[in-house]
Amino acid sequence: MIADKIQYFENIKSEAQLEFLQAQNHCSLCGSALILEHEFDASKEWIWEKAHCPECQIRNRNRGYQLH
Ligand SMILES: [Zn+2]
Repeated sequence: MIADKIQYFENIKSEAQLEFLQAQNHCSLCGSALILEHEFDASKEWIWEKAHCPECQIRNRNRGYQLH
């Protein structure tokens, strides 16, 4: 299954890239497209990426990335 959002990425040239995007953008339990959110912390030094599945009602990802 390929969700519409994957078509946003223009440089998918290999099966490995497609599999990676599929895993990143879809629920590992049911395969539904994840809802992604990005937000800064109060210091603006970190950005948090959160993902949840609208079907399973679970959080699939909560990662922080420090900005340089
Ligand atoms: Zn799910």
